Amino acid sequence: MFKRATLAVKLMLAFLAVVALAMGAIAALVDRSAAQHFEDYVSVSARPRLAASLPALADHYARTGSWAGVDALLEAEFARGKGHGGQAEDGRGLQPVLADAEGRVVYDGSGRDVGNVLGSADLRRAQPIRVGAEVVGYLLAARGAREQGFIDSLGRSILGWGLIAGVVALLLGALLARRMVKPIRQLRDAARRVGSGELDYRLSVSSGDEIGELGAQFNQMAAALQEDEQLRQRMMADIAHELRTPLAVMRGQVEALLDGVFELTRENILPLHDAVLLLGRLVDDLRDLALADAGRLPLEADEVRIDALISRVTSAYEHAASDKGLSLHVELAEPLPPVLGDAQRLEQVLGNLLSNALRYTPAGARVVVRGWCDEDGLGFSVEDNGPGISPEDLPHIFERFYRADQARARAAGGSGLGLSIAKRLVEAHGGELTVRSELEVGSTFAVRLPKAPQNRPY
Ligand code: ADP
Repeated sequence: MFKRATLAVKLMLAFLAVVALAMGAIAALVDRSAAQHFEDYVSVSARPRLAASLPALADHYARTGSWAGVDALLEAEFARGKGHGGQAEDGRGLQPVLADAEGRVVYDGSGRDVGNVLGSADLRRAQPIRVGAEVVGYLLAARGAREQGFIDSLGRSILGWGLIAGVVALLLGALLARRMVKPIRQLRDAARRVGSGELDYRLSVSSGDEIGELGAQFNQMAAALQEDEQLRQRMMADIAHELRTPLAVMRGQVEALLDGVFELTRENILPLHDAVLLLGRLVDDLRDLALADAGRLPLEADEVRIDALISRVTSAYEHAASDKGLSLHVELAEPLPPVLGDAQRLEQVLGNLLSNALRYTPAGARVVVRGWCDEDGLGFSVEDNGPGISPEDLPHIFERFYRADQARARAAGGSGLGLSIAKRLVEAHGGELTVRSELEVGSTFAVRLPKAPQNRPY
């Protein structure tokens, strides 16, 4: 049942429990020490009066050999003032208690304690009754009615104040609990709203304590969720858009062939083939990106010679460059030391940069691939003197599906994923991919790899 109680109720009950415990402890302490002091006081002040009766009591025991019939003697001894119940009591309210040698009470004014054994504190206060050397009993003074009355009223007033403190604690607890619980409730409601899809909902955070920090963290989390969701939606729209183009080409071509508009010739099947290739590339790129996002892009860690890699990749593009009327040059500073990495993935990066340079650079231009090494690391760059990228586009070109010149880039067969994949791959090698570009001057894409790369596990 307690589990289901609200936080406010739990807090109030906790306050109440603390107050009850504190008041209980104080009451017990006060009661004990007041009783102790009174008893000490009574026993000290009664000592001479009790001592005066010891010979008569010893005499009674010596004569009879027991405490039988001692009641009359005690009542006669302490007869100067009678207690309310007729019990022995002297003029100042002193009531005698007599116990036998074992400490068992044989007489007490009220008769309530007869038969009970005295505690060690009582025995310490009591005066022994001796017959010869033998202790035959103990005599002590009981707590008087007035003292008892005072202790009782003390107990009652502690109880009264305890109740008042309890009520105040409850009220204070309720007030405090309300203040503390309010932001938690707001957080709960916010979590509910964000959880049900209201991703733009934010908490207003005013305090700087832990709950305020929790609220700020929650807002950050909601913002990240919203950004992820927007990214996912944009990604889905982009993918659908990218698939539509090659599919439309394929559909148009196939329908024209089926309807007999086009003859089934090699030339008429070529656009179909290109569209299939484009689709295949898009699917491969998407798979690489998905693996990189999930942190599961598999990377081999081998020694890779960057100079050999540059020669291999460049020679594969030589034909395409000369077909387009571009001059392609390689400049290697000196034999480069090997790096630890995945040769195939690094080839993919250089291939992507090189194919971009060839794709976006007009005939007659010049493309230079450089390999270099300095104190911090080594790497390669691809420089062209093509049209360059505008300053507005430059910060976005590593984003997925971003194309600086939509129509030209798509017509050139680009998916808009090449650079974002290349960047991921280089970063997975512990390196960085940067770009410098100026309109009408050209672009330089540079890959820097650490000499001793820390390969991340993807
Ligand atoms: P795409 O598959 O469209 O080439 P990328 O991610 O490889 O996609 O490139 C993103 C965009 O960056 C391209 O669409 C193009 O506009 C621009 N870009 C990339 N390389 C160059 C370059 N060498 N010169 C001019 N623009 C470039």
